[in-house]
Amino acid sequence: MSDTSASQTGDQPQDTPAISQELLEILACPIDKSPVKLVGDRLVCQEQGHKYRIEDGIPIMLVDEVEQ
Ligand SMILES: [Zn+2]
Repeated sequence: MSDTSASQTGDQPQDTPAISQELLEILACPIDKSPVKLVGDRLVCQEQGHKYRIEDGIPIMLVDEVEQ
């Protein structure tokens, strides 16, 4: 017997990204304009490593909010 039917039971996987890949691809660091990647629950710019919070799926990409 092979049960390949994916039954949605409503439980959420633990590793759900904080934001979508599509959104991630259009975002850029406001300081150096470099692409950002998702690290844990933060966005980290690939140029200088600036970190930005994500609140309720909205990345807080403000120069005043950056965490060095
Ligand atoms: Zn940056």
